Amino acid sequence: MNTPRFPWRKALGRLLRGRVPAQLVVQYTDRCNALCAQCGMNARARFLRSTLHADAAVALVDAAAEKGVLALSFTGGEPLLYLGEIAELSRRARAKGIPFVRTGTNGFLFRGWERPDFSDRMRHLAETIAESGLNNFWISLDSADAGLHEQNRGLPGVVRGLEKALPAFREFGLFPAANLGLNRLAGGAQPAPDAEADPEGFQAHFRDGLRRFFSRVESLGFSTANACYPMSLPEESASREAVYAATSAADMIRFSRAELALLYAALSQAVAGFRHRLRIFTPLSALLALAREARGQAARFPCRGGIDFFFVQAGGLTAYPCGYRGSEPLGEFPDLDLARIPRAASCSACHWECFRDPSVLAGPVLELLAHPLAGAARLLEDRELTRLWLEDLRYYRACNGFGLRTPPDFFALAHFARSQDRVAGASIEPAPAR
Ligand code: SF4
Ligand code: SF4
Repeated sequence: MNTPRFPWRKALGRLLRGRVPAQLVVQYTDRCNALCAQCGMNARARFLRSTLHADAAVALVDAAAEKGVLALSFTGGEPLLYLGEIAELSRRARAKGIPFVRTGTNGFLFRGWERPDFSDRMRHLAETIAESGLNNFWISLDSADAGLHEQNRGLPGVVRGLEKALPAFREFGLFPAANLGLNRLAGGAQPAPDAEADPEGFQAHFRDGLRRFFSRVESLGFSTANACYPMSLPEESASREAVYAATSAADMIRFSRAELALLYAALSQAVAGFRHRLRIFTPLSALLALAREARGQAARFPCRGGIDFFFVQAGGLTAYPCGYRGSEPLGEFPDLDLARIPRAASCSACHWECFRDPSVLAGPVLELLAHPLAGAARLLEDRELTRLWLEDLRYYRACNGFGLRTPPDFFALAHFARSQDRVAGASIEPAPAR
């Protein structure tokens, strides 16, 4: 299937009504074959597992199309345990008019690169994805160090297999994204310096580890990357009931607020340094906004979860504002009247990038359309965020939708070789580069 054009008219119509183009994240299954310490769904966790029934999955896709959902994600668990079903559902979603459909994998299918059937398997996998309706496909990678990543995931050999498989994907015109789950492994095998005693050392530890990560991603053959922020729920939301168990109390994913601010500064530096070499979805404006929240400032652009973005847990049709507000079910997704949901956002309890990144990106547009004069004044007042936001918009244009089926345009990306200088002036960078 071809790459869809961005439906500007439809998106603008929603923005004029004070809404962001709708997004639905469907947890297809909570089964998983990996051992990630940072996740409550790992194969060792004991709970009753569920997978969407075929009829329920079709009902969700059809309802999402009918409600004008712009982006539909199938998440897990491990979605590719059900590759055939996801490929079929994504084809249906595209045929019904949902322009952006995505899924991802922990990479378990890339194991066994030394076996004689590996090339054939990879060609078959690439062909299946090429013939599906997917236009975004992510593969998880937690560290530049393959050993660290594989040990944590319990998936030996996946990184070498991935490196060997990516040419088969390119043959089919596919450019998957490397998806970094940001945790303490991102800094490398050595522990980070104490953030209170040595904040510059803490930031440099992660900045250098993240630069190694992007460099490794590039050398593996990826041209697109993204980062998921740490999902240990902050204290104030501990009473909320997560229905999406991609959270953990493990130390590797727990960061204090001060550490988070430094971590986002480090990520910001690393992202800015690679924007001309890779298409990296992570917006610099969102990193600044989240770093400010970590330092105790009120969220300027709260999350659109439960307003324009929704989550459906594996095993049913019930929609939630997101995977982390399980005590606030909204009823079955097909019955939801999206237009009747109040427009104002207020939640900033976690940093789930799927919902927080687009909320920050759309925030200034909503502000400007709702209150043109006051919105413009706020943008002028907060020059630091506005500068990064405008830079993000220009960069996204150069990345042409980060599409699975679109090769990178390195000529357009070359304009971002100096992104680093622009981050250097922002307060997201409290420590000097060393
Ligand atoms: S992070 Fe993903 S791959 Fe790892 S255990 Fe959780 S669902 Fe499985
Ligand atoms: S910030 Fe968004 S994703 Fe996080 S708990 Fe609130 S609504 Fe959910």
